[in-house]
Amino acid sequence: MRCPFCGHEDTQVKDSRPNEDGVAIRRRRFCTSCGQRFTTIERVQLRELTVVKTDGRKVPFDREKLTRSIRIALRKRPVQEERIERIVTGLVTRLESSGDTEIPSSRIGELAMDTLREVDGVAYVRFASVYRDFREENDFSSILSTMRDAATGLAGPSDDKAGPETPNAR
Ligand SMILES: [Zn+2]
Repeated sequence: MRCPFCGHEDTQVKDSRPNEDGVAIRRRRFCTSCGQRFTTIERVQLRELTVVKTDGRKVPFDREKLTRSIRIALRKRPVQEERIERIVTGLVTRLESSGDTEIPSSRIGELAMDTLREVDGVAYVRFASVYRDFREENDFSSILSTMRDAATGLAGPSDDKAGPETPNAR
């Protein structure tokens, strides 16, 4: 694994341990050149998924993006980070085992909403209210940036600032 800081090819594994009940392996790595530490996470991937947006564009499924939107919905809620990872893993496994490699973005949104409803009522309402506004276009990245704005408003001005990508009108 190449060092993400300096590009050096030789990094060493210091420690590896399972997490999320053994569905992922987390490895702490150490660069022998610059001394930086970083973590890699190994997970089973049943298949490569492609997200089909409403306008027909196809993009590779991005687990991190899904995780960020779930995390934003759950911000300041009594839900541990490890549980969030398990929620996302559950969602991804359902998507990967659905039989289709191309998934409409709307299905990902619906599935995330259904899952949040079972986890935390407040997070569900946050996600659902934003999601419904975007149901027409079903663009997950729009959902994400609006979620961020909503969460920032709730958390106060000291949290992350709205960037230039912020949609300024509905
Ligand atoms: Zn390095």
